[in-house]
Amino acid sequence: MKKAILIESDEPPSQAGVQRALRLAPSTHSSSTFRRRYFPDVSPQQWNDWRWQLANRVTTIPELERFVDLSDEERPTFKGHGILPLSITPYYLSLVHPTDSSQPIRRSVVPTHHEQLLSRGEAADPLGEEDDSPVPGLVHRYPDRVLLLATNACSVYCRYCTRSRRVGNHGRRDGLLQAQWERCLEYIRSHPQVRDVLISGGDPLTLPDKRLQWLLSRLRAIPSVEIIRIGTKVPAVLPQRITRELVSVLRRFHPLWISLHFTHPDELTSETTRACGRLADAGIPLGSQTVLLQGINDDVPTMRALFQGLLRIRVRPYYLYQCDPIQGSAHFRTPVERGLEIIRGLRGHTTGYAVPTYVIDAPGGGGKIPLLPQYCLGPSADGDSLMLTNYEGGTFHYPTP
Ligand SMILES: *Cc1c(COP(=O)(O)O)cnc(C)c1O
Repeated sequence: MKKAILIESDEPPSQAGVQRALRLAPSTHSSSTFRRRYFPDVSPQQWNDWRWQLANRVTTIPELERFVDLSDEERPTFKGHGILPLSITPYYLSLVHPTDSSQPIRRSVVPTHHEQLLSRGEAADPLGEEDDSPVPGLVHRYPDRVLLLATNACSVYCRYCTRSRRVGNHGRRDGLLQAQWERCLEYIRSHPQVRDVLISGGDPLTLPDKRLQWLLSRLRAIPSVEIIRIGTKVPAVLPQRITRELVSVLRRFHPLWISLHFTHPDELTSETTRACGRLADAGIPLGSQTVLLQGINDDVPTMRALFQGLLRIRVRPYYLYQCDPIQGSAHFRTPVERGLEIIRGLRGHTTGYAVPTYVIDAPGGGGKIPLLPQYCLGPSADGDSLMLTNYEGGTFHYPTP
């Protein structure tokens, strides 16, 4: 008996935690079936190599048609689609439904002609990031932290991308990028009020280990930089990228936090579970960011499944974003009431950790503004107490001091 307990506790945490997470959420998805069908000559080793995944991204409509029956809305008109390029890793494509064009994962990555429609209030840079950019590739909006846009490339382009104006440049010229990074580092060095650097893009985890290590070590050498954060969708769209080697690079730069982008519970596969397990085992606190999208994840059951599923893989839901009014995004946007309903449907009904902060990133550079359902009903008639409502709709009084 004692021996059994000993063996259990000797098991590496990665094994135990990941196995449990997998058991709790049995994944019906099998990327190996997809691989055997569409890439019969590709070995599991190649498939699980992130470089193979990147090299074999689907980037054109004719290639995509090999895997997916395009609907009329998805078939490009003579003008093509919008400005945002197409890119889907073979792994993520294995999650795309081949015939149902309304499937959430499919809608989030397959372009439609709605992207050509410019609606009221839409802009290329609705958040005014360029106006808050002291040097190219850096956004300094808040007093104590900066956003460093380390690359324009992603492995998969989300059709609702807030940076669709600038992402997609895969002809990476390392020299140019390097010069831009040096200027960003110089800015951070000369602004000691910056204690938090958020590395985003593009997706920074599409960079090779060596380049990431270079950037992280330069940032760590700046005494005023307390924490470093990375924003990435890689664990959802290219989980093969989270190699032991990458993790051993990242863990050298603690305190390091990672914000992961997740859209739908279908993304919580065994591959993604393992990737997040590795990062969490390396002591990296994981948060998630989700964009509220019409017909994709804008209902309570979907969001509950996503956020509870994220907790099982040790990711804490951090922000739920109202969709930014980028050009050609009207078909994705929901009324703000929808987001408030979702928060109301979660708070109190499930684990508090599963409830992210719902925010609008204010157009024009106002930054993230939190939105909450109305739980405070105001003072009672006699003025002796504050009236509150709870998650079940009951009214409660808190004595006014
Ligand atoms: C979101 C964002 C940050 C980080 O905001 P937190 O609320 O600290 O996560 C920093 N700079 C910019 C420009 C941002 O958009």
